[in-house]
Amino acid sequence: MPRLLIIDDDPGVAHIIGLIAEGQGFQVDITDEHTAFFKRLAEHQPSHIAIDLMMPELDGVEILRMLGDMKCRAEIIITSGMGKRVLDAALRAGRERGLKVRGILPKPFLPANLRALLQANGALDEASGRFRRPMPEIDRPMLLAAIAGKQLRMVFQPKVTPQMRVCGFEALMRWHHPEYGELPPAHFITVAERLGVIEELTLYALRASLDWLSRQRCDDSVSMSVNLSVKDIESVGLADAIAETCREVNLSPLRVTLELTETAAMTNPADALDVLARLRMKGFSLSIDDFGTGYSSMSQLARMPFSEIKIDRAFVGSALDSKESRTIVRAIVELAHNLELKAVAEGVENEATCSWLRDLGCDVIQGYYISRPLEADAASAWLRSPVLPTLPGAGLA
Ligand code: C2E
Ligand code: CA
Ligand code: CA
Repeated sequence: MPRLLIIDDDPGVAHIIGLIAEGQGFQVDITDEHTAFFKRLAEHQPSHIAIDLMMPELDGVEILRMLGDMKCRAEIIITSGMGKRVLDAALRAGRERGLKVRGILPKPFLPANLRALLQANGALDEASGRFRRPMPEIDRPMLLAAIAGKQLRMVFQPKVTPQMRVCGFEALMRWHHPEYGELPPAHFITVAERLGVIEELTLYALRASLDWLSRQRCDDSVSMSVNLSVKDIESVGLADAIAETCREVNLSPLRVTLELTETAAMTNPADALDVLARLRMKGFSLSIDDFGTGYSSMSQLARMPFSEIKIDRAFVGSALDSKESRTIVRAIVELAHNLELKAVAEGVENEATCSWLRDLGCDVIQGYYISRPLEADAASAWLRSPVLPTLPGAGLA
């Protein structure tokens, strides 16, 4: 099992990094102090290290220097709230010292970016929990070839109410590379954003998933959720392009939800507000994804025209074991309802979590306990006759 050692003086941030890493199959160890850090490094030989650059006594740059002297072979992730330029400089300094610096994580960070970094030296195989062969460097021509060459496809993960009524699907992108096999989206989406190709990927995702839904014979209440990237909402033409896609496949915008991460919505709130307001006016629903991991101001959030809050799977996945996670989930459900938004839980993996969420009043459940993401044909078959768990007392709540 891969092991991650985290050094960060902000216990909240360290906790979230830890939860996300555990969700990726890591064993996690956290410290806020360098003496303990070096002691645990020697004792546990972690495969991965996350270092906060800003530490009160011995800062991260100094720690990197010492790790270089020790010829440390762990994969290193550098985190900081100090801005990208400082992080880039630390990354270069670390690599010049011969360290295996995997990448940087500016705070506030997107869980998907952290997940991508943790996977970056080899995708975690879901079935075996082991790392597969190393991941290739993705470049622009490779991404463009994927779009042109039909290497991309969408899979659909069911969403249900706690009473086990089907209410929709989340569309998730998959890339089957002819040489490298399946590449995880957390990795290639981030690269596509950086290389300026995300718009093409988003349009592909919208088209393929809305087209699929329009061809299903099902109740109008079944909707499709599609993920948007922060770069997408910087584009003024987005709302029209999505509306046009709906017209082409003859699907009402009322059946489409657009998911946007908390950090993306808050990166440039004034611009985001424009685009989001236009999308709402056209009838689309908006979901705030990975909620709880960012640092958005509550008052800003309350002014944004969202229709639902999606609680990050790091909290949902650890709810049974962690009182802290349960408190966070409960608070988010309450916040959603006070703002008259739906509360959606993702990453629900077992019956106990599912019934707990139902009793909390959570509105929508998504996760492996209900179903894994399904290939298009399998999703159509599932929709025709859903195979759903029966919860004790379901239907009474
Ligand atoms: P996300 O939007 O938070 O999507 C949910 C992720 O959780 C999916 O990972 C899904 O397979 C996984 N998941 C669902 N149920 C469970 C569960 O019970 N347990 C656990 N451990 N995981 C569960 P996936 O498909 O690997 O996608 C990762 C991320 O990549 C997504 O996170 C999203 O940020 C991004 N992504 C995927 N498809 C697209 C896309 O079409 N466009 C954009 N912009 N981003 C995408
Ligand atoms: Ca999502
Ligand atoms: Ca999410």
